[in-house]
Amino acid sequence: MLQFNNSYARDLEGLYVSWKAAEVPQPKLIRLNHALAVELGLDEQALDSPEGAQLFSGNRLPEGTAAIAQAYAGHQFGGFSPQLGDGRALLLGEVIDKQGRRRDIAFKGSGRTPFSRGGDGKAALGPVLREYLIGEAMHALGIPTTRALAAVTTGEFVRRERNLPGAVLTRVAASHIRVGTFQFATARGDKALLKKLADYVIDRHYPEIRGADKPYFGLLRALCERQAALIARWMNVGFIHGVMNTDNVTLSGETIDYGPCAFMDRYDPNTVFSSIDEHGRYAYVNQPPIANWNLARFAEALLPLLIGESGGEQGKAEERAVEHAMEILGDFQSCYEKHWLAGMRGKLGLTREEDGDLELAQDFLAGMEGQGVDFTQAFRRLADAAEATDASREGWLRQLYADDNKLDAWLPRWRARINAEGGDPAKRAQAMRAVNPVYIPRNHKVEEALDAAVELGNYGPFEKLLAVLEEPFSEKPEWAAYAEPAAAETSAGYRTYCGT
Ligand code: AMP
Ligand code: MG
Repeated sequence: MLQFNNSYARDLEGLYVSWKAAEVPQPKLIRLNHALAVELGLDEQALDSPEGAQLFSGNRLPEGTAAIAQAYAGHQFGGFSPQLGDGRALLLGEVIDKQGRRRDIAFKGSGRTPFSRGGDGKAALGPVLREYLIGEAMHALGIPTTRALAAVTTGEFVRRERNLPGAVLTRVAASHIRVGTFQFATARGDKALLKKLADYVIDRHYPEIRGADKPYFGLLRALCERQAALIARWMNVGFIHGVMNTDNVTLSGETIDYGPCAFMDRYDPNTVFSSIDEHGRYAYVNQPPIANWNLARFAEALLPLLIGESGGEQGKAEERAVEHAMEILGDFQSCYEKHWLAGMRGKLGLTREEDGDLELAQDFLAGMEGQGVDFTQAFRRLADAAEATDASREGWLRQLYADDNKLDAWLPRWRARINAEGGDPAKRAQAMRAVNPVYIPRNHKVEEALDAAVELGNYGPFEKLLAVLEEPFSEKPEWAAYAEPAAAETSAGYRTYCGT
C-alpha cells in the first residue's frame, strides 16, 4: 500500500536511529484523508478499512518498512537543548507523490524512542484531532503546511492530567528537517555531517541553488525568504503558532507542529494562547522577529560551512562569514514586509502598488485595536463595503467596532484609493472574498469538536467542522455559526496546551 523510496536514511547516517512503532491493542481508523491519499497515489478504498487501521497504528507496516526516529536539537523558549529528537514520532519513509514530489510519511504518538527522555511517546486523541483540523484548515487557506493523512485511536488510555484515549496521527510533510536538525550536527562538532545535511537539503528543497557560487550562503538566504513568506501568510490570517522553537522551523518552509496554536479572534497584536508561553515570547506580533531570531540560530549552525565560503585565513574568514550572514539576516524584515504587504493589498482589494499602501494597511489594523473587532470578520465585511463606490455598504463593518472613530478616518482614505483604481466594485469584492476567509478554526468550535470526540466518541462535530474548514472562502447560510467568534468572556480566557 505504501511504496517507500527513502533518501534521508540512505544519505544522512548519524541523524537518526532505526526504530519501530509500539504495538497498540485495538486500532480503529477514525479518519482517512481521501484527497491526500489520492495525491500520494495511494489506494484510498483499501486504506479506509480495518487493514488501514492496522497500518496507520503501526501494528502492520508494509514489508521492508525501515522506520527511523530523527535526531535534532533546538532552542526552546530561548534555551538550547543539544538533543531533542523524535520522542513520540517516527518517520516511516518517503514516497514520491503523483506530481513527482518527495514526501515524508511519519507517525506522531507511536511510542517511546531513544529520544523520549521522560515522555511516554504517545499522543492523546484531542491533540491528534486538533492537528488534523488546523493543518487541513491551513492547507485550504493556501498556506504551506504538513498535513494529516490519517488518525486512529489505539484502544488504550494515555496518562495525562487524567486518562485520555490514545491516538496516532499520520503526518505528511515535504520533509521533517528542521533548523534544529542543523543545530544537532553542529553541536556534535561534526562538520562532515553538517555538510552532508546542507547538501541534502539543497538537493531536496532548493535545487535552484545547486552549483551556485556560494551554495550555503544561498541556502541561508533562501530559507530566510521562505520563512518570511510563510510568517507573512500566518499574520495575514491571524494564525498564532504558539511554539516557534527552532525545532519547529522547517527547512521546507511548511508550518509544522500544531500543538498550542490557535487563530486570533478579536484583533490584539499581543494575543497569546499557549499556557506555557508566560511572557508572550510567541505572541502574534512577535512572530516575525522571532522567526528572524530563529534564522540567526540557523546561520550560527551553518557557520562552519559559511566560513568555508568566505576564503582567506581562518580568523578573517570567520569575521567575513559572520558579517555576510548578518547582512542576509538583516534583509529578513524588509522581505517579510514585502510578503505581508502583498497579502494585505489583496485583503484590502488593492490591485496596484502605490506609496502609502503600507501605512494604509497598518492603519486599518490600528483602527481595530482595543475595539473588540474580530480580525477575520473585519476583512470579510470590508469586502462587502467594496460592493459600492460610496459609503452605503459600510454599516455592517462599522457594527463590529466598539468605537469606530479611527475607522471613520480610515474608510475615506481607502475608498479614495480603490475608486482611483477603478474597476467593477462587484469584481473587487469577489476578489477580496477569495483571499479573506469567512471560516477559520474558531477556538470554541475546535474545542466543541474535540470534546465530543474525546468525551462521547462522537465524531460528528469534528467531521462537520472539517468540512467547513475545507472551504474557507465560500459562504454558506447553513454554516453561519462557524463564522462567529465566541463570546468575549469565553475567548478572553482561552488557553491552549502543548500536545504532550
Ligand atoms: P514539541 O513540543 O511537540 O515540539 O516537542 C518537543 C520535544 O519533546 C520533541 O523532541 C518531542 O519528541 C518531545 N516530546 C513531546 N511530547 C512527548 C511525549 N509524550 N513523549 C516523548 N517525547 C515527547
Ligand atoms: Mg516539535
